[in-house]
This record gives sequence, structure tokens and C-alpha cells, in this order.
Amino acid sequence: MTETSVYTVNDGRKGVTSTCFQGTQELEVNTSVGYQTSAITTTNIIQQVIDWDDLPRWMRIDPYIRRGYRRELNSFYACLRSLFYLHNELINTWSHLIPALVYLAMLMGFDVKIFRYDLKDSTTCLADWTTIQIYVVGTMICLGLSAFFHCTNAHSEAMANRLLKLDYVGICFSISVTNVSSTYFGLRDDPWLRNVYNTFCLTCALAVLLSMMAPGVDGPGAALFRVFTFLALMLSGCVPILHIFIMQGYEGVEHFPLMHTALMGLCYLAGTCFYVTHWPEKRWPTTFDIWGASHQLFHVLIALGQFIFLLGLRNALLVVYT
Ligand SMILES: [Zn+2]
Repeated sequence: MTETSVYTVNDGRKGVTSTCFQGTQELEVNTSVGYQTSAITTTNIIQQVIDWDDLPRWMRIDPYIRRGYRRELNSFYACLRSLFYLHNELINTWSHLIPALVYLAMLMGFDVKIFRYDLKDSTTCLADWTTIQIYVVGTMICLGLSAFFHCTNAHSEAMANRLLKLDYVGICFSISVTNVSSTYFGLRDDPWLRNVYNTFCLTCALAVLLSMMAPGVDGPGAALFRVFTFLALMLSGCVPILHIFIMQGYEGVEHFPLMHTALMGLCYLAGTCFYVTHWPEKRWPTTFDIWGASHQLFHVLIALGQFIFLLGLRNALLVVYT
């Protein structure tokens, strides 16, 4: 593939640079200024993006995003550098990197202060505190792995396949800590049943994780399978709520973060609708290549749902201690 760019030299004459690429390797740069022509090699950093038609086959995943692709970069350094120029994975990366950093900040102590002011009794039970921090850690891992995947998925085919599996691991982490923390607070008066359900949730998570390691679950063709599998894992966290509601009515489930769980579920549902339908880029091709594509909306809604659930856990803690 050859690219040309026009530039101006000191004496005002226009020059043309032709750059030949083979994969990500820049082979030769021919520079001509006026009548003079010379062949030189250069280490100039070229940050241009390419269109769908120029992508290698393995990078053709979402046919509704037509422009703004990074080249196959073959370098983690080049992938990290892509955090600072515009391409169609930039928002996917930052939309999960920023909340991951916020959760990291919470772990590093800001959250402690908030809790100290919120609670009448500042000596919160260590197990309660740890449960919320486990949720923060699990969510941070999910967001961090997702951001890492989107940042580096232009490295190479083999690396992108491995990193995609890490993205699935992160999702399993996120759903597991959500279910476990919800059950922990909801069944805090019945430790035996709580342990039974948390073992059940973690076993389901392990089964889902193992199923996601199979090569056949990747790619757009298996998108619905992945959606329904992760949905089933989420619903496994609702089993204890349903059980207690049937046995004891509304009073029995008042320690579960019900309202926040429902709001989180709505965010996840809306995000999944964007993910599955590829709206709006399917309706308006090329308009949302860089900003506002369905996967970006999906990311924002997932991060929002996760944050709402964290507020729900805080509320559950306040119900216990205030
Ligand atoms: Zn993603």
C-alpha cells in the first residue's frame, strides 16, 4: 500500500512524500521536491488511520464501522501511543479506563473518608467493608481488562484473540462480585444460606468462564450466545432474591439493594440492545465511526450500571448501620 502526503519546504516549493507499507512496516519513503528526487528511509511516526476496505481480514469485525481503524500495529508501545490520537477504538478504551481509575482511587483511600462521614457508627464491620471493596476490585478489573483489550486489539491477530478472552474474564469478575455482594447484604442474617447461594453464584461464574475460553464463542456470529450466557449468569444472582421473596415476602428482601439492582439491570439491558442491534451506526453508516457508536454507548451504560450498583451497596450498608 502506498500513501502520499504533500508538504512545503523552506523555499516555498511543494514536495510530495510517498510511503510504502507492508503490514505495519514502513519500507521506504521517496521524497521529491521540485525536480529533485531521492530515496531515503525515515523513522517518522505516522499516526494515520485506515478504512474498512484496507483492513486485514482478521480485523474486520464490525462491518458498520467504516473508517478510523488503526493499522495492525504489532507493538504494545504503538498500541499505548494510540491512546492519544483519534481512531475508532479511542472512546471504547477511555470510556472504561477512566472509571477503572476512579475505582482505583476509591481503593486508595478516598472511599474510606466518605464512609466515615456517612455512618453514625464509624466502626463498620470489617466483613461488610471488605465485601464492598471486593466489588470495587472486581469492577475495576473488569473495566481495566476491557480498556486494555480495546487499546491493544490492533496489536496482531494472535494477541487480539488472547486479549479478547481476558475481556470475558473481566465480565465474569464483574458479574460475580455483583451477585456475591448483593447476596452478602441481602442474606446477612442467614450466613448458612448466604454461603450456599454465593457458592452457587461462583460455580455458575466458573462454568461461564470455562465456556468462554472455547474458540467458537468469539466473533459476531456468537454475539447472541455470549449475551444470553452472561445474562444467565446475572440472573443467577436473582435466585436468592426470588427465593426469599417467595418465603418471606417483601420484608425478607429489604436488605438486598433492590432498587439499584433494577436500575443497573435497565442500564445493562439498554447497553445490550445497542450492542446487539449496532444502532446507530447501522442506520447511519460512517456518521458514528469515531464518536457515538453502539459499542461506545454500551460501554458507558455498563459503567453507569456498575456505579449505580455501588451506590446500592452503600445504601445497604447504611440500612444496617444507621
Ligand atoms: Zn468493549
